[in-house]
Amino acid sequence: MNPPKAGERIHRGEMTRRDFLWLVSAAGSAAAVPALSGCAAHPVTGRQMLVGLSEEQELGLDRQRSPHQISRDFGATRDPGLNRYAAEVGSSLSSRSHRPAVPYSFRVVNANYINAYAFPGGTIAATRGILLEMQSEAEFAALMGHEIGHVNARHSAQSAGQGLLAQIAVAGVAIAAGASERSAAYAPLIQIAGTVGASALLASYSRENEREADGLGMEYMTRAGYSPDGMVGLMGVLVRQSRHKPGMLDTMFSSHPVSSERLASMQADAAGRYAGFRAGGLGRERYMDRTAGLRSLKPAIEEQQKGERLMARKSLGEAEAHFAAALQAAPDDYTGLCLMARCQVAQRRYERARVYAAQARQIYPGEPQAMQLSGVARMALKDYPAAYQEFDAYERALPGDANAAFLKGVSLEAMQNRPAAAREYQRYLRVVQSGSQARHAATRLRDWGYAK
Ligand SMILES: [Zn+2]
Repeated sequence: MNPPKAGERIHRGEMTRRDFLWLVSAAGSAAAVPALSGCAAHPVTGRQMLVGLSEEQELGLDRQRSPHQISRDFGATRDPGLNRYAAEVGSSLSSRSHRPAVPYSFRVVNANYINAYAFPGGTIAATRGILLEMQSEAEFAALMGHEIGHVNARHSAQSAGQGLLAQIAVAGVAIAAGASERSAAYAPLIQIAGTVGASALLASYSRENEREADGLGMEYMTRAGYSPDGMVGLMGVLVRQSRHKPGMLDTMFSSHPVSSERLASMQADAAGRYAGFRAGGLGRERYMDRTAGLRSLKPAIEEQQKGERLMARKSLGEAEAHFAAALQAAPDDYTGLCLMARCQVAQRRYERARVYAAQARQIYPGEPQAMQLSGVARMALKDYPAAYQEFDAYERALPGDANAAFLKGVSLEAMQNRPAAAREYQRYLRVVQSGSQARHAATRLRDWGYAK
């Protein structure tokens, strides 16, 4: 196969849409694969289990990967009261868990889809989308309890023993490659839009893991004084969601049917072994009070959710109308601005994309998504020095995405700076060896005499 000679066409100012999409399609980042090893006692049951990760590796994996997922979710909310609330509820449970010494952290992220997740080192997040669906603090506690349950039962570490790590390492690449084979034109949009945001860590939990996390969540939340009916309420929210807004449910719940079965099992537990805790609080008013700021954004968030569903179906014009309505309701919403910028990129309106990305960047300084979007828009506008600056800022803010090196390489190549471009391509090839981007980088290095 001949790699596209996009770089040359860029020099001649003839970048086609296909070239551009190819250029910006992310190859994903590959995590290093730690060595698999040994057995450990299950921290909850004490039984021996096959563990692929030491605790140190769990922390390392968390530190390495969680910032990428959080950024894909548009960062932690800038509403400090809301993050504080998540931390209060979360730590009231984690301090009563089987592994209280894990360095847990809790936050609400700006994504609109309905999910929560835990990384193995204790980084836990819930999306603003799911917060809007819950009705009480006890439901929120149930959600945090479920996630803390995954960390306590070391589900990631167990899965790692079953080949998860290899999966994580290739996930980014596989997503990019698979997508580009299915639809060359749409692949980059998927990448940039991050709709394939599912982390392999989250997708890999088994049904048994989910049940165990439900059970542990129930245990921790009741220890913290909440009514077990919060868990029943949460399961109800998820069952309803899977019926009405299936597209908004992410892996954790869609890969393991939330199931009337999980709901029934939690109902039985609430009425059975945890019946004595039913006098515990639901904290409805407190929840409404503490999430009031977020709930004031509900109309805007619902418009964004509609827009995202339409984007996924490639109805870009219709999607844009919803994003516009969202921005009318909440002009300074970071997620709303990023989504609108993506929608403009997808429609090849790069100048407008640049403006929305710049606004997003101003509103949430330091959050990498807007930097990447801004870089993409500037690259399409052929302002390569500015594109380079943005990709460089993106990489500094979020190290570990090999794609940044590739995009910097392309920018430098377009600026005729071969030595610097070659350094970036070499850096990229150290992480990614296959795919059209890798072929492009390798071809350039050969043509320029940097490699044989
Ligand atoms: Zn789960």
